[in-house]
Amino acid sequence: MTTGSLLILAGDGIGPEVMVEVRKVIGWFGANRGLDFDISEDLVGGAAYDAHGTPLTDATMAHAQEVDAVLLGAVGGPKYDVLDFSVKPERGLLRLRKEMDLYANLRPAQCFDALADFSSLKKDVVAGLNIMIVRELTSGVYFGEPRGIIKEGNERVGINTQRYTESEIARVARSAFELARRRDNRVCSMEKANVMESGVLWRDVVQEVHDAEYADVELSHMYADAGAMQLTRWPKQFDVIVTDNLFGDLLSDLAAMLTGSLGMLPSASLGAPMANGRPKALYEPVHGSAPDIAGQGKANPIACVLSFAMALRYSFDKGDEAAMLEAAVEKVLADGVRTADLMQADGGSPVSTSEMGDAIVAALETLN
Ligand code: NAD
Repeated sequence: MTTGSLLILAGDGIGPEVMVEVRKVIGWFGANRGLDFDISEDLVGGAAYDAHGTPLTDATMAHAQEVDAVLLGAVGGPKYDVLDFSVKPERGLLRLRKEMDLYANLRPAQCFDALADFSSLKKDVVAGLNIMIVRELTSGVYFGEPRGIIKEGNERVGINTQRYTESEIARVARSAFELARRRDNRVCSMEKANVMESGVLWRDVVQEVHDAEYADVELSHMYADAGAMQLTRWPKQFDVIVTDNLFGDLLSDLAAMLTGSLGMLPSASLGAPMANGRPKALYEPVHGSAPDIAGQGKANPIACVLSFAMALRYSFDKGDEAAMLEAAVEKVLADGVRTADLMQADGGSPVSTSEMGDAIVAALETLN
């Protein structure tokens, strides 16, 4: 029995560079903790366009539907800016998310003590922060119909529609409650039930799912604007936040930036459980392909390494190993090892992408 199947799509720019470091980590878990992944690799984004004229082939898409988890690096780059919208690198990523029906986007906001000075907030507000935002990813105002720009009399009118069905709300609520049970067992649901009917329904359905299936989890409700204020005032009051696509887009970026560098931020997008009980899953760093530093050995691999830690926890049920990997990252940072993006103005010399990967593996060694 292997631990599970993993499809690696390194993509463009710094994607392949940070993925090399994740492969070192996977190799270490194989040699030292008996994890045995059935790994395949393929192309996505600009790399797939260069080879096949499409940012994601049908064969890669079909394979992504079959594996336990997909780990993606990043897509895009200036070379592809001239391409038609239909074959731009980002379309490959969007196709994966859409066809795998990944409706729950998990964005942790975790502040490692050693980096608390990087936050724009006071150190005591963010030190030790560990919250999770669950954003509904496949419905809501970004997809609702009618939409468009129409002419009304002498002027144009822009229209978008916020639309949620009960089942769309219920399934993302379940994702949030399941997550909370693995954490501090608390969920705060955010909407605008004071001014939006879709918000009233959102609140009702989240409460119903809670009462029927997750009464053991502590549930609270908050208006999303108040939630934004509370996230900057005292973010540590939250454990899991669940919210819709639009509010989640804003709140997850806000929460992520509480913690500092883009090079540190992992994410997961989960869908419905497959026949083996594991959710459809795509793990990826929040950052893009960083063309300004690609090929220079400067990229911070931690966001991608932490995305793999999320895969260990949520796809492969290896919570102990995930915690170990996060502890290794924490140790490396506490020891003062820094890629360029994590350097303060005053100094020291940065390590390369590869040296950061080696340091994480060395830290795993000491924690084993
Ligand atoms: P970006 O995230 O690639 O880079 C923004 C800034 O952060 C850059 O200065 C970059 O050097 C820095 N940065 C990002 N990741 C880093 C890391 N791991 N280590 C150190 N520094 C890091 O965003 P952008 O510049 O707006 O976009 C560049 C390309 O990436 C575009 O083609 C864009 O469409 C694409 N993009 C892809 C994704 C994705 O694959 N999910 C997400 C965002 C942007």
